[in-house]
Parts: sequence; C-alpha cells; structure tokens
Amino acid sequence: MVIDPTQNIDIWEFLKEVPDPEIPAINLVELGVIREVEKNDDELFITITPTYTGCPAKKLFEDLILEKLAEKGYKKVKIISKLNPAWTTDWLSDETRNKLLNEGISPPTIGDRIIVCPNCKSKNTKLLSQFGSTPCQSLYTCNECSEPFNYFKCH
Ligand SMILES: [Zn+2]
Repeated sequence: MVIDPTQNIDIWEFLKEVPDPEIPAINLVELGVIREVEKNDDELFITITPTYTGCPAKKLFEDLILEKLAEKGYKKVKIISKLNPAWTTDWLSDETRNKLLNEGISPPTIGDRIIVCPNCKSKNTKLLSQFGSTPCQSLYTCNECSEPFNYFKCH
C-alpha cells in the first residue's frame, strides 16, 4: 500500500483541512489516518486506518471527513476502514512530531522507546497513567521539571 500524493491532489488538500479531533494542531493527513484516495467519476473512496483499533475517535474521523468533502461538493463518499497494516506512530513525519512537541505531547521516537519530556526535553520521565486525556495517549510526568504531559502511544 503506497500513498500516491500525485493522485487526486485536490482531495488530499481538502482532507488536510480536517483537524485531528484529539489534537487539533495536526490534521488527519499528517496523522497518517488517511491512506488512500480514489476517485471514480463523482464518487470518492477514502481509505482510513484509525490510530487505535478501540479508538472512539474513529466514528468522529469518518464524520469529519464526510462533512469536509460534502462542503467541497462531494456527496458520494465511501469510507473504507483498513486495519491491516495497523496504524503506527512511525507514519508521523518529523514535522508532525515537532507540532506534537509544541502541543506538549511527546511523540515516540522511531526505534527508541525513550519518552522525552516536551517541556524540558529530559529523558528522565515516568508513567503516571496508561490513559491520558484521550485513550490514545498516556499520561507521564517529568522527573526533572515535574511537568505532567501526554505521550502518544505506540501500537
Ligand atoms: Zn521536563
């Protein structure tokens, strides 16, 4: 499965206008939730991979996508959920990771499970709770600056 951004560029641009309901600073394309866009005459097929199989935001993702595309004149939109391969935080770009850090959310580092404090960049952090402000995040605290922060879970 390959994302081909040269196809249906306009649709990808519209989808970039849809913010992640949990982290509004980043959009669904940046989050890697939107995997494929196919156009067949006036019908659109959007393939999404939810960030988390039990993610309560899944329905919300779909509604937001449908709403945005309807606003752009696409009334016939089918959303296809694809769970395999599962969404991984590796799909986040460096730019998206930086945006998360700016939001006070620690993004995972590829191949490295050290959780960095978004406030002071210390690696001396500890888990407070498996569930943070949303089920897709965990709550951590920093041992250096004592700031609690959310960590975007790896799956
Ligand atoms: Zn800190």
